[in-house]
Parts: sequence; C-alpha cells; structure tokens
Amino acid sequence: MDVDLVVPGLYHLRPDFGQAYLWLDGRSATLIDTGTVGSGPAITALLTELDVELDRIVLTHGHEDHVGSAAELRAATGAPVLAHAGDVAVIQGEQPRPDPVLLDWERPLFDSITPNVPPHPPCPVDQEIAEGDVLDFGGGARVLSIPGHTDGSIAIHLSRSRTLFTGDTIAHFGEVVLGTFNLDRAQAVESFRRLAELDTEVACFGHGEPITRNAGAELRAAAAKLND
Ligand SMILES: [Zn+2]
Repeated sequence: MDVDLVVPGLYHLRPDFGQAYLWLDGRSATLIDTGTVGSGPAITALLTELDVELDRIVLTHGHEDHVGSAAELRAATGAPVLAHAGDVAVIQGEQPRPDPVLLDWERPLFDSITPNVPPHPPCPVDQEIAEGDVLDFGGGARVLSIPGHTDGSIAIHLSRSRTLFTGDTIAHFGEVVLGTFNLDRAQAVESFRRLAELDTEVACFGHGEPITRNAGAELRAAAAKLND
C-alpha cells in the first residue's frame, strides 16, 4: 500500500482501490474511510509501524471502496465505526447500494469500474453521526451532512488546522471537480458549494490527490464553474 504524508500528522493511504486518510493526535489515530475489502492488513501494519492506536473509523459514505475494510479493521482493532444514518443500512448490509443516477458520459466509466470493485462485507455501525456533531479528534472535528453523492454522505472539517475531508462529493484529478456517480446530482452540487465556503487550507478527497495549500480558493473556483 502506498502511503504519503500530506502534512505532519496526516497520511494519505492508497490501498489497491480507493483511498483513505489517517489522522494522528499523538498516539491516537482516526481512520477516514478504509479502501476496498482486503486493505485491513496493510492498514494495521501501518498502525503498528507508526506505533499508534486506532480509536475510531469514520466513513464518509456507504460505497464499497470506502467501507470495504471497515469490518476487518473494526474486528482487528476494536475501533468503533462512525457513519451517517442515511447510509447505515447499506454499510450494515441490510440494504443494497442504491444505483447512482448516471449522466450519459458517466455510464461507460461506471460500467468499466464497478466490476473491479468488490462488494463490502457488512459492517456494524457503532455510532451514527449527524450534521453539527463534533468528534473528538483534530482539536474538534465537525461533521457536515452533505447528501447528493449518497444520502448519508458526510464531510469532516477540522477548524484548528483548516483541514477538510470531502468524501466523494468532490474529486481532484488535476483539477477539482464534482465527484462522479451521484444519487442526486443537484443535491451534490449544492453540497459542493457548501464545502467550498469553508475556511480550508488542506483538502482531502475520496479520489485524487490532496491539496495542501489554500485549498478553499481552488474549491471556490471549481464551485463557480458548476452547472445546476
Ligand atoms: Zn462514492
């Protein structure tokens, strides 16, 4: 697994498919997303190497490439899994993942990618999180409910370090763009605009490279170009 240091105390993890982030407060670690199923051993090896304890697993939404290793990591570390109520049934395997409403250009991309993304093993959610919750890491991690990509999509904003985790609502492939494969594109656009207004220096996306300086300006420039 490729691992990059984004800024001190924040790692960008790239398992075989998907990506995840590890935030450290001293020896206390928070994992944001988990990659596809089977990424667990590489992530636990990293925890050992860094000599940290995993205290929570936060899922930005219920897609397979984000939830995939949550069950194995929860079992291996005892860390609780946190997610928004809107995606809990999918994460716990009680409901199938709803199909996104694809734009014409997204269809071939979706058809080529989805067969390569294995389904996630159902994972119990230990704590439902909601808009306005403040989680105990990063000096206070604010939860934003940003539906559209999925019903239960969330972002996390750390105001002290001005760090934003966007989940799949925003992606960064050379340029900052609206994430693909949304359940409700109009809602996702609205959520993107909301995230762009935050005071953000470092932005971490569900897909694509993090931005480490003045990310808010790039997000606002991208938001201004979005069509409703
Ligand atoms: Zn997704």
